[in-house]
Amino acid sequence: MDHYLVFGHPVRHSKSPFIHTLFARQTQQTLEYGLAEPAIDGFAAALQHFFAQGGKGCNVTVPFKEQAFTLVDQLSPRAKRAGAVNTIKLTDDGVLLGDNTDGAGLVADLTSHGVTLTGQRILLLGAGGAARGALAPLLAEQPTELVIANRTHSKAEQLAAEFHDLGTVSACSYEQLTGTFDLIINSTSASLQGELPPLAATLIHADIAIYDMMYGATDTAFIGWAKQHGARRTMDGLGMLVEQAAEAFTIWRGIRPGTKQVLRELKRNLGSI
Ligand code: NDP
Repeated sequence: MDHYLVFGHPVRHSKSPFIHTLFARQTQQTLEYGLAEPAIDGFAAALQHFFAQGGKGCNVTVPFKEQAFTLVDQLSPRAKRAGAVNTIKLTDDGVLLGDNTDGAGLVADLTSHGVTLTGQRILLLGAGGAARGALAPLLAEQPTELVIANRTHSKAEQLAAEFHDLGTVSACSYEQLTGTFDLIINSTSASLQGELPPLAATLIHADIAIYDMMYGATDTAFIGWAKQHGARRTMDGLGMLVEQAAEAFTIWRGIRPGTKQVLRELKRNLGSI
């Protein structure tokens, strides 16, 4: 039996075991996927122990993604760009490969909703780990412009500078945002506390697409607010979660699982997992 797990703290509400178990069933792969919640200062030791015991691969979530980046032997180009690792695979040669599938998951989910990125004007809210992971895959789709707004403006400026070789990307304070955006992606953690990023309601219009990386059984605060101001096309991050998992599963098993049915099952069971 091949063993996989997700490291996080806290991790007990993770949907990853549910998702990967369904992927394994669907693709007829024999594997076990569990949870590990090491102490905040115990991740490095727990990771080493897991692979010493024969573990094949793992996911890494908050707050260990940046530390995982420093602990692997090799990094994929997108993990290097993201500065964070959410997927680790042990190769047959005993090399620990670190990758980051979050941004690819976001783009796959947007695409599956029929959202066009190429030639569009995109506003990305937040400049934390999730924003960093999303930037390279988003810019690869060649939007006409990508603007980053963040509560701490200097972090948005820093990200824009770091990624500007990949496309037209700039930073703008929330107060100074102007013009019409085709898509707003909320990568802030504001919704976790039921809060809203300080965005002017005038930026919302009927044809805009709204994406919140956060998800829940009901609308996130941001999606609720956007709907109130006339947004008709809103999406939460549950699909991104499933798509980034599918990408990780493909790295580990060399077979790509379908995501539609798994997402349906996850939605149906969200309250009880
Ligand atoms: P970080 O802690 O790295 O970054 C948080 C960001 O949110 C920062 O830019 C911070 O601004 C901003 N922020 C926090 N509170 C507020 C607020 N009240 N108003 C405005 N801005 C705020 O978190 P991550 O980037 O790792 O995660 C962000 C979100 O993305 C989380 O909700 C997480 O659950 C979600 N996520 C979803 C995934 C999925 O698969 N669906 C995958 C990865 C993440 P500042 O810099 O000023 O502090």
